[in-house]
Amino acid sequence: MTTLISDGHVVTMDPGIGDLPHGDVLVEDGIITAVAGHGTISAPGAEVIDASGMIVMPGLVDGHRHVWQSLLRGVAADWSLSDYMLEARALYSGCYDEDSAYLGNLLGGLESLSAGITTVVDHCHLQSSPAISDALARGLLDSGVGGVFCYALQNVPVYGDDVDSGEIKDVLTRLPDEWHDTNAARIRDTYFAGDRQRLRFGVALPETTPYLPGSLVRQFLSRASALSPFLVTGHWVDSGPHGVLAELCADDVWPDRTCLSHGNHIDAEDLAKLAEAGVSLCTTPDIECGMGIGPLAALRFREAGGAAGIGTDLSNYARADVLQQARLLLQVERFALAQGSPKPPRSIGYTARDVLALATLDGAEALGLADTIGSLSVGKRADIVLVRPDPLGAQPYTDPAAAVLFTTSPAEIDTVLVEGEVVKRDGLLRRDDLGVLHQRITDAAANVRARYDKLPRPEIESVWAGLFS
Ligand SMILES: [Zn+2]
Repeated sequence: MTTLISDGHVVTMDPGIGDLPHGDVLVEDGIITAVAGHGTISAPGAEVIDASGMIVMPGLVDGHRHVWQSLLRGVAADWSLSDYMLEARALYSGCYDEDSAYLGNLLGGLESLSAGITTVVDHCHLQSSPAISDALARGLLDSGVGGVFCYALQNVPVYGDDVDSGEIKDVLTRLPDEWHDTNAARIRDTYFAGDRQRLRFGVALPETTPYLPGSLVRQFLSRASALSPFLVTGHWVDSGPHGVLAELCADDVWPDRTCLSHGNHIDAEDLAKLAEAGVSLCTTPDIECGMGIGPLAALRFREAGGAAGIGTDLSNYARADVLQQARLLLQVERFALAQGSPKPPRSIGYTARDVLALATLDGAEALGLADTIGSLSVGKRADIVLVRPDPLGAQPYTDPAAAVLFTTSPAEIDTVLVEGEVVKRDGLLRRDDLGVLHQRITDAAANVRARYDKLPRPEIESVWAGLFS
């Protein structure tokens, strides 16, 4: 299968090529085989996608998201972090069945493709039973999105007709059950056996990891490594009360390709140690700002020599729009730089292209995928996005990087290719079951909500509050 993307404004994000105001991209069997000025590539018989008037760029990379929460859109918009932990982790997570788990992940994957996100790291902490794990993996695979399905070694409450507060407390506080390890290996072997699959297998660490003594953290890391994941991920906001971050760096025990999320309060010294250890970092601007988690770390980490990316995090908070996240990060960093200056500074410090890199090539590097995705370079996987700038809101434009960041929404994502396969064209996902799916998703979300409404909330809330007193 050969496809020629013809006469677009090509933003390759490849430092050796740069932008081509009139460029062509040739795709053969899912791989980019040529990138050059318009009319210079000979490809007789190729299917031609006319990209004139459009911006052509690499597929976007979302380095951290909890995709199952897509079914609960918007419920978290006014939550604090502690509201989120109670509501999402202790309440809603116990209300999913196989159908809602499957549809949540399918919806999140389709939402990604529609928004030009061709690679997502799903930090999947809804592993409440083997059947639910199957549903989650199948949902993301069936969407066609690429990335890493990270099985979280973390217990999840399951609510039946009766709620036993002792059992809830136990589930939420004990170490991850051993059945997770065999179940995760089964999921890996059943769905992610290929070496260079579009969607790969990874492991997510339990949420409590950064707050535990080094000996326990090492146990978690070896449980993760024993599963031979492509990527290990985990939430990590600060250096930890036991200084475990520095200790792990000194002992060089991080698994290959570890990407931590957030890192807001990791001090400069520990950021440098992480960078030196080859651990990467992913910033999720919307929730980190909205929930007051702390200063954004991606650019500081990059300046310290680390590989940094950007993520959308909570699917129940805002839509998965990596470009919007990158723009937010840019403005927050510009604002931070100007703090303390009596007048608006003469230099704003960072550019649109700096943060577009986080959403493409740098983001790919943070996931250990820079040899495969992240730029329009010969030999890389043909994950390609065509943006049609809105004639009223985005044209005429000058810098295409500024155009995609400042005046583009998922509505302007016209065409998306994953591994050379056209999954969106003329602004529409190429699936003929979207109407049926929409109804199934609506019904499944209503069922989750109905189960949530029946939970003995005060009882669960008091167990939860007790964990932090
Ligand atoms: Zn998260």
